[in-house]
Order: sequence, then C-alpha cells, then structure tokens
Amino acid sequence: MAVAKTAVFLGVNRPLELVDIPIPPLQSRQFLIRNELTTLCRSDLTTYCGKRIEPTPTILGHEIVGRIAAFGPDTPRFDLRGTELRVGDRVTWAIFASDPTSDMAHRGMPQKAPDRFKYGHERISEGNTLHGGLSEYTILRAHTPILKIDERVPVQVAAIMNCAVATVTGALRIAGEIRGRRVLVSGAGMLGVLACAMARQFGASHVSAIDVQSDRLAIAKEFGAESTLTIPTKDELLPSFDLSPMHGTDVVLEMSGVPWSMEKTLETLGIGGTAVWIGAIHPTRPVAVDAEKVLRNLLSIRGLHNYNTEDFCKAVEFIESHHTLYSFRDLVHAPFTLDQVNEAFDYAIKMNPYRVGVHLGIE
Ligand SMILES: [Zn+2]
Repeated sequence: MAVAKTAVFLGVNRPLELVDIPIPPLQSRQFLIRNELTTLCRSDLTTYCGKRIEPTPTILGHEIVGRIAAFGPDTPRFDLRGTELRVGDRVTWAIFASDPTSDMAHRGMPQKAPDRFKYGHERISEGNTLHGGLSEYTILRAHTPILKIDERVPVQVAAIMNCAVATVTGALRIAGEIRGRRVLVSGAGMLGVLACAMARQFGASHVSAIDVQSDRLAIAKEFGAESTLTIPTKDELLPSFDLSPMHGTDVVLEMSGVPWSMEKTLETLGIGGTAVWIGAIHPTRPVAVDAEKVLRNLLSIRGLHNYNTEDFCKAVEFIESHHTLYSFRDLVHAPFTLDQVNEAFDYAIKMNPYRVGVHLGIE
C-alpha cells in the first residue's frame, strides 16, 4: 500500500513526528493531491505555540499547493472556472469543503456551514486522514472549491493563495468600494503587505500602513503603501501615541489583532468609514468602542474569518495578473524540507519572516 510521509502534530511543546500514513482508496468526488509546498500560516504558529488549541493529533498546514495525482470515482474533471483537470495539473483549493446548497453557502459564508471540513484543522482518526499540508499527499474532499493555476506563478506564491491572499480578498470585499477611498492597513505582515498591493490595484486614492517594525513598513512601501507610521513597541508609550496623521481614513484593514490597534484605528475613520477586523484569530482582551462616535459618524465594524468561494477565485485571479508586478515570492522563505519541519517552525517563531515554506519534495 502506498504511504504518505506526514508530519503529525501531537500537542504543544512536542516536536512534530514524521509518520508514514497509508493512502486510503479515494472515495466519491475526492482528489489525491501530491503536495509541492506548504507555507506556515500565522494560525499554524499560534496552534504550535499553544495560543489556540486544535484537536490533536492533527496535520497542520493549510496554505498548500500541489498537483493532481489521482481522481476518485465520480470526481469532477473541471475546476471552478470550467477548466479541464488532468493528472499532473498544479492546483490550489479552498481551506474548506462544505455543502454548496447549505443555507450558509447561499448566504455567502460556506466556510461556516455546519458540515464544513477544514484542511489543516482536522483531527486524525480512522477514516479521516491526509487533510493537512505538512504531508506528501492531501486528499481533497467532495465539495472542495478547486482551481487549476497558471504554471507561470512561482510555487512560493501559489502556496499563499488559498489562505493569505484569499483572506485579504475577502476583507476588501466586505470593506465595500475601494476605488477612490483612503485605506489604512494596520499590521504589515504577510496579510498587510498583500492588502497594500491589492488596495492599490483596486484603485484606492491613498494607501497607508502602520506597524511596530519600521523595516516591515519599508517593505510595505514596495508593495504599494504611500505613507507609513511606526508604532512604539513599549506599552507605556501607546496611550499617548498620536495616530492623527492617519485621520480621515475611509477603510481600515486591521491585520494585527492587537486590541490597542483595533481601538485606535477606529478613531482614524471619517464619516461613513468601515473597519474590517481580520487579525484577532486568538483570544484577546475586550476592545473598547466609543458607541456614540460609531453611530454619529455612521461607522461600520466588520469581522472576517477565512473567506468564501468568490474570494478564493478572485484571489487566484489577482495573483495570476499581478505576480510579475510585485515580488510576492521574496516574502516566502522556503529552504526547508519535510524532514526539517521542526526547524521550519522554530525558524518561523524565532525569526518571524512573512512566511516560512516547507517543500514536500516534487518540484
Ligand atoms: Zn491561514
């Protein structure tokens, strides 16, 4: 029986264990994917560090790209764009699989449907395995949105499409009109840098970015930010820190998840402004909101977790159209192989690059 070498996460403070998992026969509508590259998303790192608890044992990694290795019985031979699929095609797929006829799917939230299956977040059990990116193979479940990707997109950039890029695409969707608007991006990590580039390309009249790291803000400028402001790292300096140079913003994209930043960037919004909160992916202290200001200034606060199928398609289109314009590839540090998966996590936590990638051995 064929096996898939897999890094299994058993719990906090334990090294990932390399295990050969037998590849089960494919069921109806499934694909077998030979993974090429998995990038470690911020949420993988928060699980690894124990800031949020996922059921274990599990296979982490959901920012994945790979090639079709086999089709199951009745598996569709066309992707979401109607492109024919063949063995060997490089594909990306959504982080979720769920019934496309569910009420949640009809309401534009398939990622929250009650039957959803989420790659990189499932417990390994009898009959439910090969669902994460830190493995040689992934089995795509029925109803997984899948897209064949333009081969000219570098593999490092293809890997980040189905979490980082799709999430930012979703954030811009719920932010409303971007053309002609002033956009402030809070947190210039991977999502923030992508948000600068996308807001610029979507016609924002001005894109600004804030972060505690001035070197990250310098990178954000290469990706479309026109003005930046470095936030102090010392907590005692924060209450008096002046964000007024950013006042008059129409859209805040809050990627940091830091309560202070959620509160202060809300104050930068002009009349009718919208704040989209994307960064708070683990528990934080409650955020204080000036309710009177929210209603008098007609402000909106919207939260986003993951993304929907439309966002996923638009994210892939964005990267296919813009990967030569911005050096997204340089944001992914990927010298690691699956055998070095523990070194990859340690590096990601210690050095905090935009993304760390793990090669799964076929490109
Ligand atoms: Zn992610």
